[in-house]
Amino acid sequence: MVTCPKCDYSWPTKATAAWITCPKCQRKFERPDQIIEILGPIALAKPTTCQQCGRERSDLRACYVDDEAAIICAECLKDLLE
Ligand SMILES: [Zn+2]
Ligand SMILES: [Zn+2]
Repeated sequence: MVTCPKCDYSWPTKATAAWITCPKCQRKFERPDQIIEILGPIALAKPTTCQQCGRERSDLRACYVDDEAAIICAECLKDLLE
């Protein structure tokens, strides 16, 4: 979900562009940083695709990205992981 800072309209978007256009007021604003919450490691029988970088990884973590469930590898999360 993103919220327009001009009119407070919220809508779900998969857009990854740096600038987004509000569908309600048509104004452009810079995409806010994604809020990533790490839930914990996932036990995997075989390497699985990281939803962030698209590579096959075996060190994936269950996450919420902007309140949507996602699986992301430790390398993509290295700034967030200790
Ligand atoms: Zn707006
Ligand atoms: Zn990754």
